Amino acid sequence: MRKKIIAANWKMYKTPAEAREFMEKFVPLVAGHERDEIVICPPYVDIAAVVDGAKGTNIKVGAQDVYWEKEGAYTGQISPAMVVGAGCEFVIIGHSERRQYFGETDDTVNRRLEVALEAGLRPILCVGEVLEEREANITEDVLRRQCSRAFRGIGSNKAAKLSIAYEPVWAIGTGKTATPKIAADAHSIIREEAAHAFGGEFAQKLRILYGGSVKPENASELMAQEEIDGALVGGASLKPDSFAKIVKW
Ligand code: PEP
Repeated sequence: MRKKIIAANWKMYKTPAEAREFMEKFVPLVAGHERDEIVICPPYVDIAAVVDGAKGTNIKVGAQDVYWEKEGAYTGQISPAMVVGAGCEFVIIGHSERRQYFGETDDTVNRRLEVALEAGLRPILCVGEVLEEREANITEDVLRRQCSRAFRGIGSNKAAKLSIAYEPVWAIGTGKTATPKIAADAHSIIREEAAHAFGGEFAQKLRILYGGSVKPENASELMAQEEIDGALVGGASLKPDSFAKIVKW
């Protein structure tokens, strides 16, 4: 059995004060919850507040991205060492919103993934097809391409801390959710690519999360699927009671 990871992606929501307020309410709601790993990925400026609020709990903290250079004249960028130093254990890499709005490509995803793993972070690599790709029946090709390019040059010894989130882009923030069958089919393609790159034993242990309009009402059906090893949750992670209900699916 793979322990599930229930991760919140706060995107560009919450000030530090709002992050602190969230933690005050959320921590007691999930106290003692050991069945799943709980992760919160806030905006960079909220990391300190979330790390502080998570002290003494089993809630882990992640960043939403990292740059691939160690340091230098890269105004506005944040390095893996910086987020590690700030208390992050996880990092989201290649989220579809980064691909869609900020010029992220399979190649830059690969660079970020490599440095994140080198820094000892636990990356959650996001892959997933857009609606036109699903309708054109090329979902499998898209997933295989995104995975194989992201994995390029990464040795199986380094990949141990990797998790992947299958996030069909048509389901993100739209209220549409992939059926368990759609998610399970995509997850097995991703697992095959991971086996190809890093070996069968690694692939069996790899956690593949589902993301796309997960909410309290659909979390238990999705999380009950053997192929689904957790959730990456956007909108429904912003309220403490809603995210706590998902954690306790
Ligand atoms: C996400 O941001 O990764 C996501 C899945 O968003 P939402 O849950 O709002 O669809």
